[in-house]
Amino acid sequence: MFLVDSHCHLDGLDYQSLHENVDDVLAKAAARDVKFFLAVATTLDGYRGMRELVGERENVAFSCGVHPLHQEEEYDVEALRRLAAEPGVVAMGETGLDYFYTPETKPRQQASFRNHIRIGRELNKPVIVHTRDAREDTLAILRDEKVTECGGVLHCFTEDRQTAEKLLDMGFYISFSGIVTFRNAEQLRDAARYVPLDRMLVETDSPYLAPVPHRGKENQPAMTRDVAEYMAVLKGVSVEELAVATTKNFADLFHIPPSRLQSIV
Ligand SMILES: [Zn+2]
Ligand SMILES: [Zn+2]
Repeated sequence: MFLVDSHCHLDGLDYQSLHENVDDVLAKAAARDVKFFLAVATTLDGYRGMRELVGERENVAFSCGVHPLHQEEEYDVEALRRLAAEPGVVAMGETGLDYFYTPETKPRQQASFRNHIRIGRELNKPVIVHTRDAREDTLAILRDEKVTECGGVLHCFTEDRQTAEKLLDMGFYISFSGIVTFRNAEQLRDAARYVPLDRMLVETDSPYLAPVPHRGKENQPAMTRDVAEYMAVLKGVSVEELAVATTKNFADLFHIPPSRLQSIV
């Protein structure tokens, strides 16, 4: 079986006491059939640091972007464009809107979100979108900036079925994290049942929000397996089937050549 963690913050894990290094994290994941990783940046400095930490690996791809929660200071849009064009970067982000934690930076978040989509269209790299308490504005900006030209994924999906439907209509993929396993997530499970197998991804968003039965512990890429097993039950398919579908979706969305995935054992 071959699973992909489509969204993890490899630079945020606990290398003091839980893991020796990145090799250790990826080995623990591989032991549970999680064999490819998209390491997602949240700031430009964070992007540079993560490339240094992770190094060049056949089984790790990178995103480049500035998270909506990190808009307290302006950043250099030209630097974003330049770094995003680097080899190994398969996506823009994470970007999007978060009105829950930082409503005071709304205008800057919106401008940044638009910049990420514009650069994504220029470079033909899809966007990784984070949204919280900002459903209507997120959909409006995606439409307005013609996101269908580069495509994208709504990561760590916590919205409802109607929002999923609108995103699917725009050609988006929808990524589910450990939140789908939480006891009070019935509305989200309803959306997950609705999203077709050929449009979904799985992720950990580690180190945040470990899935059941690991709640309270640090999340890590290995736990993609727990999300996948849970999603397979929701979809009424085997976990192997879910793995094949979500890995194919990942490769399609982020333009990862199948030969690259096949070279990983
Ligand atoms: Zn996010
Ligand atoms: Zn994230």
